[in-house]
Amino acid sequence: MDLKNFNRALWVYHMNTGSCNGCDIEILAVLTPRYDVERFGIKLVGSPRHADVLLVTGPVARSMEDSVRRVYSQVPDPKVVMAVGNCGIEGDVFHEAYSLVGPIDQIIPVDVYVPGCPPRPEAITYGVVTAWVKLENLAKQAEEEEEEEEEVA
Ligand code: SF4
Repeated sequence: MDLKNFNRALWVYHMNTGSCNGCDIEILAVLTPRYDVERFGIKLVGSPRHADVLLVTGPVARSMEDSVRRVYSQVPDPKVVMAVGNCGIEGDVFHEAYSLVGPIDQIIPVDVYVPGCPPRPEAITYGVVTAWVKLENLAKQAEEEEEEEEEVA
């Protein structure tokens, strides 16, 4: 996979839905000088309205359900959702806890899963690049559909 093939930078919005912060610390590690994914154009943004990728951690506490749906709807199309960490993917240590409504894919569609408790920075980076490839494919698909519609019209 050659990152030079991508057309533009990738902006990621990170949402914590009730994690223990273990995954969130690993996400920060991805941004620190040791891994430094910003050099490839991957950066965290402060608003879902500016994001290409919604990165979700945590098992989705009941109190976060509406926020998860709202934030998902605020990310413009085409968008990709990443679930980072076992508890957001299948409950893990919080499995069947009374206060949870997750896993994440019970609330919103998830495109990329990064398992681990917590996953290592390398796995998170690989997940982001997988999301990037998916996003580029979605953008190409949308472009082709638009061209086809123009030809028919
Ligand atoms: S997957 Fe593990 S480390 Fe990550 S938020 Fe859940 S419990 Fe914490």
